[in-house]
Amino acid sequence: MVVEERVRPATGARTEIEAELLAAYRERTPRSAALHEAARRVMPGGDTRTIAFHPPYPLTIERAVGCRMADADDHVYLDFLNNYTSLILGHAHPAVIAAVAAQLPRGTAHAAAATAQTRLAEIIAERVASVDLVRFCNSGTEATMHAIRAARAFTGRDLIVKMEGGYHGTYDDVEVSVHPDLSSPSAGSAHAPLGTLDTIGVPANTTANVLVIPFNDIVAAERVMDERGDEVAAIIVEPVLGAGGMIPAETAFLEALRGLTVEHGALLICDEVMTFRLAPGGMQEHHRVRPDLTTFAKIIGGGFPVGAFGGRAAVMEQYDPARPAPLWQSGTFNGNAITMVAGVAAMEAYPAGEVARINALGDRLRGGLNAVLAATGVGGVATGYGSFVGVHFTEAGEPVRDYRAAAAGDRELGRLLHLALLLEGVFVAPRLMMCTSTAMDETVVDEAVAAFDRALRRVRPAALA
Ligand code: PMP
Repeated sequence: MVVEERVRPATGARTEIEAELLAAYRERTPRSAALHEAARRVMPGGDTRTIAFHPPYPLTIERAVGCRMADADDHVYLDFLNNYTSLILGHAHPAVIAAVAAQLPRGTAHAAAATAQTRLAEIIAERVASVDLVRFCNSGTEATMHAIRAARAFTGRDLIVKMEGGYHGTYDDVEVSVHPDLSSPSAGSAHAPLGTLDTIGVPANTTANVLVIPFNDIVAAERVMDERGDEVAAIIVEPVLGAGGMIPAETAFLEALRGLTVEHGALLICDEVMTFRLAPGGMQEHHRVRPDLTTFAKIIGGGFPVGAFGGRAAVMEQYDPARPAPLWQSGTFNGNAITMVAGVAAMEAYPAGEVARINALGDRLRGGLNAVLAATGVGGVATGYGSFVGVHFTEAGEPVRDYRAAAAGDRELGRLLHLALLLEGVFVAPRLMMCTSTAMDETVVDEAVAAFDRALRRVRPAALA
């Protein structure tokens, strides 16, 4: 994957700070280093998630409860990543433990319907106005894959439209222009981007089926739909660009996508894999935009592998196996009892009041980080919505509304800050993605802001270099 970043000369200060941080990290985490070496002998890079790697090696986490995790060297971290936003209740929540413990002796997966599956489907359909029918799978990747297939089957068309910087998982059709290298002419221009493949191994002709538009750019969406709208099966969009930098969609943009899809007989797929936690009915409820299909994952599994997709009855009924030639969807662990009972427990422990409370904690975190950025004089901004926060080292005052604005930030500085935060005991994504959970309160958020202040002051000379 090629990541575009602002190229700065490796100045003395930056090199020195990086060396100092790496040395401190190595000195603090020798057990993680040894465990990483052992892991590398049996797994490429020592892990199964490319995204979790960062130099010199990632931490090995031994245990986690609530908002705290302990690494193999017994250092405790405030977890502001929550397994990439999925652990809405933090770690090892008593309600989830009780539900799973009660289910385990009764079996884990049965190749027959389970009552907890119906209950979780009811919870999703009750919360999300646009969802009449839902189906489960085991990841967000599968959820978006199936939703796109459902849209293609329903419309009889092949093209999809996705956002530049939009992330929908790791299968071929959506591994297009997630992290395009903007220095290459193949990425096209700011308002007319071209689809580029994000990883080797994806067939080159994948881009023929995937049109790419800039996030929050109504004019570009109109142009693409004017040109090719009648061949488009679906537009897929995250209401907050997550992996792309925690950048909220503007209501007018989502409304425009809704209007354009209706006009051209295409479907609108809202990818709420990450954003479902931000409002009781997902961000579509907040924006009052009703998609045809919605994808879910992360929080709805209570910490276990999960995915789901649902929407309008007419589209979802294609999956009804009682129909002749139904749309095919299967999976050995789809709707397994453990994930379903954990999901029900997690969703029941996440009522509207808790959604609002941790969104307010996110606002407090974002506000705190922005105040620190301003006070330290390091150009940058904390973006996001509610419980989601992203940090970008962009020019002060520059709005971050799309992938290109985020990519213009100083990501190398971000990586230094990530290491500095780990040394301060705050666990965030290497690309500085953060989120709150119900296991947190204002004191924990303030602790994180204070740690961010110390970490930023430590790396500041590298920023000013
Ligand atoms: N869609 C979005 C918006 C996501 O953020 C993610 C994961 N971060 C996915 C899809 C893929 O989900 P999974 O990792 O469960 O395959």
